[in-house]
Amino acid sequence: MKLEVLGSSGSITTPRPLCFCKICTEARKKGSPYSRLGPSVFVHGPDILIDTPEEISVELNRSSVKRISICLFSHWHPDHIAGKRIFEINKHWGRIPGKNKTTQILLPEKIAESFRSSMAIMEHLEFLEAEGLVEIQIIKDDETFSVNGYTIKPVRLFFDFVFGYEIGDSTKKILIIMDEIKHWIPDPEISATDYDLVYLPFGIFAENPLTGRALVDSDNPILKNEHTTAETINIVRKLKSRQFVLGHIEEPDRINPQLAKKLSAYFSKETGKKIRIAYDGMMVPS
Ligand SMILES: [Zn+2]
Ligand SMILES: [Zn+2]
Repeated sequence: MKLEVLGSSGSITTPRPLCFCKICTEARKKGSPYSRLGPSVFVHGPDILIDTPEEISVELNRSSVKRISICLFSHWHPDHIAGKRIFEINKHWGRIPGKNKTTQILLPEKIAESFRSSMAIMEHLEFLEAEGLVEIQIIKDDETFSVNGYTIKPVRLFFDFVFGYEIGDSTKKILIIMDEIKHWIPDPEISATDYDLVYLPFGIFAENPLTGRALVDSDNPILKNEHTTAETINIVRKLKSRQFVLGHIEEPDRINPQLAKKLSAYFSKETGKKIRIAYDGMMVPS
């Protein structure tokens, strides 16, 4: 298996449109790895796409993805689903019935439920299904599903509308969590698993451990629901994996490649684990 980071930003891309700060100006000039588009990853092997941000068509065009066997979603938030129209690429433009390609979308029950109650997401997916462009399959929240000889197991986090996914075969196992790990405590089974790769959200960069400087006031309401980088690192400490990659990096956190490198070295040394910061186009063999 190989993980390709299609987009390493969170809800705010780098550059952020109409922002002319130093980070955004440099990103606009140099592109990736300075720039970051919306959160999405692809797992080569089982050929699984996880999440479809607005920029997913750009991300797929610049990627090495050749086919998508299955699409999974982490949760209903717009930065993860706003590009689901991407499946119109399956349309046969000669409009010959039955000639469309179809992408399978796998939804744990709880995600399907939140898609029905949020922003007409399910209505849009069902529209695509009626066009024959996707096939929606709803599975139980703890149901394991097989694809191309690999198993996919949904992993419930603290908030019940968000899922991570454990993907593996008989030799390798990876864990991918795109966002929303606030208050999550890995259960004993997950803590005991030896992963080959764990992908986690970087979190709000509330304090720079290299300088000790607080970057977000402690009474900032964002810290009530959003996890911080320090909280992500605490989760890293609780998991066993050959390597950790941290994505979902927001523009206001101002993480350029130079700072990312320094932080990777710092966090790896501090935890004794191999930790890297994601960038767009990053390839991670497991
Ligand atoms: Zn997000
Ligand atoms: Zn900016």
